[in-house]
Amino acid sequence: MTDSRHTRVLIIGSGPAGYTAAVYAARAMLAPVLIQGLQPGGQLTTTTEVENWPGDTHVQGPDLMARMEAHAAAMGAEIVSDIVTRLDLSRRPFVAETDSGARWTADAVILATGARAKWLGLPSEERLKGFGVSACATCDGFFYRGQEIVVIGGGNTAVEEALFLTNFATKVTLIHRRDSLRAEKILQDRLFRHPRIEVLWDHEVIEVTSAGEPPGVTGVRARHVRTGAVTEVPARGVFVAIGHAPASELVQGQLETHHGGYVKVEPGSTRTSVPGVFAAGDLTDHVYRQAVTSAGMGCMAALDGSPRRRPGRARRQNRAAAPQHGRHSAGARPIGLNSRAGRV
Ligand code: FAD
Ligand code: NAP
Repeated sequence: MTDSRHTRVLIIGSGPAGYTAAVYAARAMLAPVLIQGLQPGGQLTTTTEVENWPGDTHVQGPDLMARMEAHAAAMGAEIVSDIVTRLDLSRRPFVAETDSGARWTADAVILATGARAKWLGLPSEERLKGFGVSACATCDGFFYRGQEIVVIGGGNTAVEEALFLTNFATKVTLIHRRDSLRAEKILQDRLFRHPRIEVLWDHEVIEVTSAGEPPGVTGVRARHVRTGAVTEVPARGVFVAIGHAPASELVQGQLETHHGGYVKVEPGSTRTSVPGVFAAGDLTDHVYRQAVTSAGMGCMAALDGSPRRRPGRARRQNRAAAPQHGRHSAGARPIGLNSRAGRV
């Protein structure tokens, strides 16, 4: 039997954007429900040191995200361990169906589904995922103790992964398709100074090689982008770190997107092409894609989604019955987030 529940604000995603939206919406007594998805805590749970979260010179990604979850829950957000499999934005209230068979209806939806790792698209890469090919150094680096490793990419993720993997590897080869990195300078300095990291410039990987059954990675074949010369690089682990693509499948065909799938929002806001639906974080951001900017957009989404700020909805919303569920549900009245009376 389908379990159907209503919430005023449904937040989809549990990265910095989702948890920040949950903190703000909970403090506005909107009794938000947050559905965590397959990766509770989001992308930062796949990294170690985070050095640019204001207030913490060093914090471990998973610790930071555990603190954000605890913060959202302490403010009164209901955190649900589930995955939204279908979202209908064509009717009111909006309807979300989940992997567990639950059905949620919501007056407003905040989308914070972030981004997922991109892959090269090689058949050998696909076949060897889980057998030596990975997109998460934090998760899988430990398996390659005392081995050689290849990292592919030239952004912050690739450089951080290469540095992190030196904790395990005898040698790390970073393969990049150009002759300069786009990673931050501070990370590049660390990379170039590291005695066990080598960079193979101007090369693209054309095949991940393997041997045995079950297969084990033996290395990669990489082609020079101008000369076409092919180089073989031995490695037991191959980490693909070529960026992330927005996780916008749920809203494909329902919301306007741009730049290859990023959800389009009105400039300076989190309002999408469907009134009552807001998007925050990496899902909508093809430029900055940082934890702190995602958190900022999560805040904006909760503010944009508050009844006071939704044009034409304030009076209707304020008359609406108290939410049926959520930790702040009893007798709660929606209060504008910018109102002093709304502060809890
Ligand atoms: P994400 O963190 O991507 O979270 C998305 C959430 O949506 C996840 O919880 C997922 O489970 C959920 N979700 C997806 N689909 C569904 C669904 N169908 N139903 C329910 N939930 C769903 N940024 C920095 O500022 N500093 C750093 O040091 C830093 N290091 C990084 C290191 C790595 C290895 C990576 C990959 C990224 C790093 N970033 C860093 C970038 C930062 O992690 C992202 O900008 C940030 O996490 C984006 O937050 P978000 O909330 O938009 O989404
Ligand atoms: P990114 O910045 O988009 O970089 C992706 C890299 O992969 C680029 O160097 C790109 O090459 C390369 N690439 C893309 N497609 C490729 C392909 N098909 N084959 C080979 N190479 C390919 O992605 P990211 O490094 O994952 O970072 C994503 C966001 O998270 C960024 O905004 C980043 O700042 C943020 N982040 C921040 C931190 C931090 O603050 N410490 C850490 C990690 C991530 P080109 O350079 O030629 O385009």
